[in-house]
Amino acid sequence: MAFDNLSEKLQNIFKGLKGKGRLTEADVKTALREVKMALLEADVNFKVVKNFISSVQERAVGQDVLTSLTPGQMVIKIVNEEMVNLLGGSAVELQLMPPSEITLIMMCGLQGAGKTTTTAKLAGKLKSKGRKPLLVACDIYRPAAIDQLKINGEKQGVSVFSMGDKHKPLNIAKAAMEHASKNGYNVVILDTAGRLHVDEAMMEELQEIKSNLNIHQTILVVDAMTGQDAVNVSQNFNDKLGIDGVILTKLDGDTRGGAALSIRAVTGRPILFAGMGEKLSDLEPFYPDRMASRILG
Ligand code: GDP
Repeated sequence: MAFDNLSEKLQNIFKGLKGKGRLTEADVKTALREVKMALLEADVNFKVVKNFISSVQERAVGQDVLTSLTPGQMVIKIVNEEMVNLLGGSAVELQLMPPSEITLIMMCGLQGAGKTTTTAKLAGKLKSKGRKPLLVACDIYRPAAIDQLKINGEKQGVSVFSMGDKHKPLNIAKAAMEHASKNGYNVVILDTAGRLHVDEAMMEELQEIKSNLNIHQTILVVDAMTGQDAVNVSQNFNDKLGIDGVILTKLDGDTRGGAALSIRAVTGRPILFAGMGEKLSDLEPFYPDRMASRILG
């Protein structure tokens, strides 16, 4: 699981803090310097680390902490609270329209991030909540993506709307909305095309869909394994397109995890779900407090 390495380092630092009966300001500063190094090594964005450490420090070197009976525990508690804040505070749910209306969701992200898989995972989650989702194949550049969506949709027992690869994604999306309203679907999820890198053509296509249809949720799918790149990609999509939330994939992998810790702070957008494996059931709501506990041990 991501963070194993970071977790181990932080636990060692905390052990040192707990071991000391009394703490001086210098002890706290030394420990926080070590925390800073551990976060940077885990590939957390530099600015994010700097802000994180200064908010912890501001709270942790006060008299009431240092003169308390268990100063080490108090410092650890502050680190934990600030980590939860960094990850977004409380869990944010995907916002849906009432079931009597159609919620239109646009999934976007780079190729290979896990967009098509995640789209099917999400549809399964919504179906189990009693919604009637329709998946829409808007990635017309990779015929394999259309087939993959159909196969995954079938596995989830969710319908897939496709018009092949000869129509514009915007027109496919419009036709899908009509199909949805005629057939009683109440969540339409567009699986859009990704590219290997953020490029103009991809953004223009997404912007065209967004400006012509009433998209309720624009969800960015990012691969946690790509580290700082994941942070840059998120910032880019948010600046150019505007995103409502992020789904972070491959958190089960052996990553350094820094992306997960940085994206919320850098974009201001919540992480809604975490992808924890290749199976279609491997999608978990993202709980900042549980994630912080996992990291801090
Ligand atoms: P797309 O190009 O963004 O549509 O990406 P795909 O959905 O085709 O996924 C790319 C690869 O990542 C596939 O092999 C997926 O099985 C894999 N994948 C997607 N999400 C996860 C995840 O959360 N964990 C792991 N381990 N693999 C994932």
